[in-house]
Amino acid sequence: MKSFEWINARSVGEAVQLLATPPAVRDIDEAPRPIAGGQDLLTTMKDYLTRPARLVNLKTVRGLDRIEGNAKTGLRIGALVTLAQLEENPVVRRSFPGLAEAAHSIATPQIRNLGTVGGNLCQRPRCWYYRLEEAVCLKKGGSECFAATGENKYNAILGGGPSYIVHPSDLAPMLVALGASVSVNGGEGKKVIPLDKFFTLPSEGSIRRENVLKNEELITEIQIPASAFAGRSTYLKFKERESMDFALASVAAAVELQENKIIKQARLVLGGVAPIPWRVANAEKFLTGKSLSADVLTEVARLALEGAQPLEKNAYKIPLTQTLVRRALTQAVNGRV
Ligand SMILES: Cc1cc2nc3c(=O)[nH]c(=O)nc-3n(C[C@H](O)[C@H](O)[C@H](O)COP(=O)(O)OP(=O)(O)OC[C@H]3O[C@@H](n4cnc5c(N)ncnc54)[C@H](O)[C@@H]3O)c2cc1C
Repeated sequence: MKSFEWINARSVGEAVQLLATPPAVRDIDEAPRPIAGGQDLLTTMKDYLTRPARLVNLKTVRGLDRIEGNAKTGLRIGALVTLAQLEENPVVRRSFPGLAEAAHSIATPQIRNLGTVGGNLCQRPRCWYYRLEEAVCLKKGGSECFAATGENKYNAILGGGPSYIVHPSDLAPMLVALGASVSVNGGEGKKVIPLDKFFTLPSEGSIRRENVLKNEELITEIQIPASAFAGRSTYLKFKERESMDFALASVAAAVELQENKIIKQARLVLGGVAPIPWRVANAEKFLTGKSLSADVLTEVARLALEGAQPLEKNAYKIPLTQTLVRRALTQAVNGRV
């Protein structure tokens, strides 16, 4: 690991100043980085993927570790709220159950005790080639995505190219489904960004980054609006190892029902299959006014994966994700059995 300076920030403003970089170190992997729980950043530093000369500790900034609000007002979640706090919070469990499930699905209790919501949204990809120090792939300034023709079992089937990473966060698909936004503080002050505009495809934005944040910008809070569907939200994730693993595929679903369990509106976002949380608006639209039947479930699963373009070794993700879509919707409409 490259040696680095550690500074405990006393306020968001001070952290932003400490992260501001001269043009010579604008490269995301060389620039000063904010550190929260350190569960991802420290591993990328140990593997020499990121080489910041300065870490700015956010845990010394007060007031970013609270969950406030309820089903009627919506939720405000501080960026330093830990994943454990989120999954255990009674309001989240009762009124935003899909979010509690998504938090619970992450890693291990030890990692959830330290990892934060802000860090989870900003964690870097898990692609083998990206994580391998010796492989200078597109995401690290190289000229090739080795996954495109190499070991691509875990890579993207939707929205890929020229890089085929999948976004690793389990919170992200659920938060997008719930219509969440993030508050961001940076050199130009504070702004609010809808989460579905926060993550960037490799074919958009900078291929070296996974979101719109600049080096000196910080997430300070996540806001979830009150909605008629948050109470019927659910998150299903399929992983290779039951004990602890990233999603091979996941589905965040939320529905608002009218009488006779007819769907008034639905939210459906896929995880583990694309470089960003993948919202499937055509499938959502199809569900409006329908009640679930075997035919409806088959069709919505087909629509959700309609544009999939699997690589050589990951076509299995299509039927896997379709199964999760059917199960997640059934659970959101009928409740957990
Ligand atoms: C073994 C293992 C298994 C895991 N399994 C899963 C899993 O199944 N699902 C899943 O979703 N995640 C998983 N993770 C990732 C884990 O959830 C994240 O590493 C963790 O949530 C990151 O939070 P952190 O506070 O530790 O972030 P840090 O490591 O401190 O930071 C991560 C990144 O975010 C940036 N950052 C941190 N806070 C902010 C902020 N407020 N604003 C802007 N940038 C910020 C940092 O600079 C860094 O680039 C796993 C991690 C490990 C080590």
